Amino acid sequence: MKPICLTSALALLLLGRAAAAGQAPAPVKLEDLTHPEIQQRAPQVLLLPIGSTEPHANHLCYGNDAFTAGSLAARAVERASRNGARVLVLPVMPYGVNTNLIPIPLAQSIRPATMIQFVHDVVDTAEKQGVRKVLILNTHGGNKTTLGTALRELAASHPKVFVALVQPGDVYAEVAAQVIERRGDHASEAETSLALALFPEKVDMRKAVPPREAELKLGSLRAGYLTFVRPWKHVSDNTGVGDPTRATADKGRKLVEIFVDRIASFLKELSDAELSDTFPY
Ligand SMILES: [Zn+2]
Repeated sequence: MKPICLTSALALLLLGRAAAAGQAPAPVKLEDLTHPEIQQRAPQVLLLPIGSTEPHANHLCYGNDAFTAGSLAARAVERASRNGARVLVLPVMPYGVNTNLIPIPLAQSIRPATMIQFVHDVVDTAEKQGVRKVLILNTHGGNKTTLGTALRELAASHPKVFVALVQPGDVYAEVAAQVIERRGDHASEAETSLALALFPEKVDMRKAVPPREAELKLGSLRAGYLTFVRPWKHVSDNTGVGDPTRATADKGRKLVEIFVDRIASFLKELSDAELSDTFPY
């Protein structure tokens, strides 16, 4: 990596001054920046948000996961940048692995192999451009195992790049256990509360209803210790899983704050870290 240059130092100073003066934070998304600005910033870390485009019950929109990923990424990177991290947000990947939703109208799906290739190409390009630290922020459950596989592949193909994966639910799990009254996974109270905190204009709580969920036939499957892919057409009458009616923006803000605080700290640590042959050890 290039050592920090004078223009980068100046850019960081200006970022800090803008924050101190209460001004709008400097843009942190690659698509909002110009060529000279990118040269000035010389980012050390790239954050890749990955979502999905799929139905989310009656009250959230198809783009919910992609909007959540982009919004959480920008907030975490804004805070990390204020603290001096040299990190940028890449464009959001709005397609997800939804091979079990294909029968549902216009649920968009790419195959796991396509997702692995996509992540490979983003990381490969970053390394060729001199950036060897990447954080993937994933908001879609159907991507989780595939992205884990992608990281295993990258460990072999790109051993000099440090790639980490984060899912918001894992970051604020203990807070969600206290704040969220009714558990669920898709378009649930937690996911709806996040959306209300991040982009309330895209949520219609008048249409939020508890879905009629199908019951699994086998007790062993209900116990939760087996992995299987749910054919989503049959999980409930409106694609939701979990009652969203008690969702509030205030609950969502509590989850967002924990996420932003923890991930901004991580991004700052990662940005400052010297990459060695034994990193992260
Ligand atoms: Zn979702």
